[in-house]
Amino acid sequence: MPSLPLAPGATLGVLGGGQLGRMLALAAARLGFDTVILDPEPDSPAARVAAHAIVAAYDDEAALAELAAHAQVATYEFENVPVAAVDRLRALGVEVAPGPRALAVAQDRFDEKTFLNGAGVATVAFAAADSPEGAVEAVGRVGAPALMKTRREGYDGKGQRWVEHAADAAAVFQALGGAPVIVEAPAAFARELSVIAARGRDGAIAVYPLAENHHAQGVLRRSLAPARVSAAAAAQAERIAVRILTGLDYVGVIGVELFELADGGLLVNEFAPRVHNTGHWTQDGCAVDQFEQHIRAIAGWPLGPTDAVRGVEMLNLLGHEAHDWARYAAEPDSRLHLYGKRDAKPGRKMGHVNRLRPL
Ligand code: AMP
Repeated sequence: MPSLPLAPGATLGVLGGGQLGRMLALAAARLGFDTVILDPEPDSPAARVAAHAIVAAYDDEAALAELAAHAQVATYEFENVPVAAVDRLRALGVEVAPGPRALAVAQDRFDEKTFLNGAGVATVAFAAADSPEGAVEAVGRVGAPALMKTRREGYDGKGQRWVEHAADAAAVFQALGGAPVIVEAPAAFARELSVIAARGRDGAIAVYPLAENHHAQGVLRRSLAPARVSAAAAAQAERIAVRILTGLDYVGVIGVELFELADGGLLVNEFAPRVHNTGHWTQDGCAVDQFEQHIRAIAGWPLGPTDAVRGVEMLNLLGHEAHDWARYAAEPDSRLHLYGKRDAKPGRKMGHVNRLRPL
C-alpha cells in the first residue's frame, strides 16, 4: 500500500490514453505528479503529455507490471478496461481508484440499475434478457414501446434500439447481436441533466452544480452549466450522488446522467466511473475542475471547492468542427481545449470550447 496522501513527485498510472486521460495527466502535472499512460494505441493523446507511455493491451501482464513499477496509485479514463487488469494491478500493490466494484457495476447496464435501485436511487423500469424468447418476455413485462440496450459495451447511443411492439422484440434482440440485453421503459424526460461529484479517500464528498446536456445521434453536443434547476432538484441530485458514492465505497470523480421529468423529479440513466464529458465546463467554471478533483481524490488529497465561479456553455468539437479553432481562439470569452488527435474522422471528439457566461 502506498502511503497517502501521495506527495508531489510520485507517478500516477492511467489506463486509457484518450482525451480524458490527457486532461487528467495535465491536471496531475500541475500538482507536481508524473503520469504513466497505458493504451493499446501508440501516440495516444494522453501519452503525448505524460512522462511515460506503455503501448500494450490492458490485460498484458508485462505491461501491467511495468506500470506497477512506475506508479503506486492508478486510475482509468474509460469504463471498458477489463476488471481483471485492475485486479492484477492491485495484486501488484498498486492502489487503483475507483475500485473494481465500481468498474464492474458500471460495465453492465443491468447490474448498474439493480445497484442503483438497491441504493434507493430511482431509474426507469427495466428487465434483462439473454435469448430472443426472453427478450419478448422482458418487453411484455416492461411494456412497449421499450428501449433495448446491450448490457455491456454500449456508449454514445450505440448498441441500443427501440422496440415498438412486443412482437418485434426477438428480431431487435438478434439485430443487436444476440448478446445479453436490458429492456428499459421510456423515460418521459423534459431535460437531460448530469451531476459530477467526487469522494475522497477519507469519505468526504463534493458535488458540482448540475449541467444541462443536449445530444445529437446519441453524442453530447452541448452542456450548459450551472443548469437552472429548482432547489429541490439540486438537493435530489446531491442525494443521488451521495448514495451512489457511498454505496460503492467510491474514490474519485463520478459522472451521473439524469433524466429530469416534467414534475421536476430525477431518474438516473447511468453513471460513468470516471471524469465525464458533461463535466468539462468545470475547467473554466470552477476553481478546481473535475480533472484536478479526481487527481486529488485518488492521491488522498483534500477535495477542492465545487461551486461555480462562472457560467459556461460547453460545445463539443466533433470531426472537422475542430478546424474552426482559429475562430474560437479569437473569441475573447471562449476557452479552447484541443486533444491533439491527428485524424479528424467524422464524429470523433477532437476538442471542446468553453464559452464563458455570467453566472
Ligand atoms: P445511454 O447510452 O444509456 O447513455 O443512452 C443514450 C441516450 O439515449 C440518452 O442520453 C437518452 O437521450 C436516450 N435514452 C437512454 N435511455 C433511455 C430511456 N430509458 N428512455 C428514453 N431515452 C433514453
